[in-house]
Amino acid sequence: MVAWAMLMASLRKAPARLLDLLLPPRCAACGGAVAEAGALCSACWGAIEFLGPPACRRCAYPFEFEIEGQTLCAACSARPPVFDRARAVLRYDDGSRNMLLAFKHADRTDLAPLFGRWLARAGEELLADADLVAPVPLHWTRLWSRRYNQAALLAKLAAGEARRPFFPDVLVRRKRTAPQKAGRAARTRNVAGAFGVPARRRMAIEGRRVLLVDDVRTTGATLEGCARALKAAGASGVDVLTLALVVRPRTIGS
Ligand SMILES: [Zn+2]
Ligand SMILES: [Zn+2]
Repeated sequence: MVAWAMLMASLRKAPARLLDLLLPPRCAACGGAVAEAGALCSACWGAIEFLGPPACRRCAYPFEFEIEGQTLCAACSARPPVFDRARAVLRYDDGSRNMLLAFKHADRTDLAPLFGRWLARAGEELLADADLVAPVPLHWTRLWSRRYNQAALLAKLAAGEARRPFFPDVLVRRKRTAPQKAGRAARTRNVAGAFGVPARRRMAIEGRRVLLVDDVRTTGATLEGCARALKAAGASGVDVLTLALVVRPRTIGS
């Protein structure tokens, strides 16, 4: 009986091994061979710029060097964002773009566990304070065409790593927003009133601290739109965690 159980167990594992032989694991960014699935090759790993201190405490904008007593960037000092704190794993640039696009277009969902671990590490402080974790919602017409919401997948994995409750549906997108509007003011107008908390989810939000998750933060307008809707619904705080951050060069005083 023991031999039979062992034979059955090895047969059950066989398809996965066979698949490994047929489809050798590929690096997410360059497509080169790697030792195990869902990993990056060493060259691509080296090209990624992971973000961390010194940075703005509020928006995670990286500082070139630490300045005694400086906790906020000039932009946050002049106009604080609607969300309370933001953190990001890595910089969106030539070194990370291919990997992020492959994930977005669902070709490389095998990267999700790696990204989930990265998010849990970069967002440790925010996850510890969060009552619940929620994704930036995709408009249903876009969900339909793209088949999955990468923000929801990331939010679920980050919540799982930190054992926090995951709520996929506390926000809804009321109108379809144009994805490529340039400029912060244009983006802010574009998302005004675009997000809302459905009546059946108000109880889950009231008095709770929410951690919002998305794949890439560009101007932050989408995340601010979501944060505004959550705060209007009574959230006690809203933090933001993204895989990537687009770091635009800023001139002094901007
Ligand atoms: Zn590579
Ligand atoms: Zn800042």
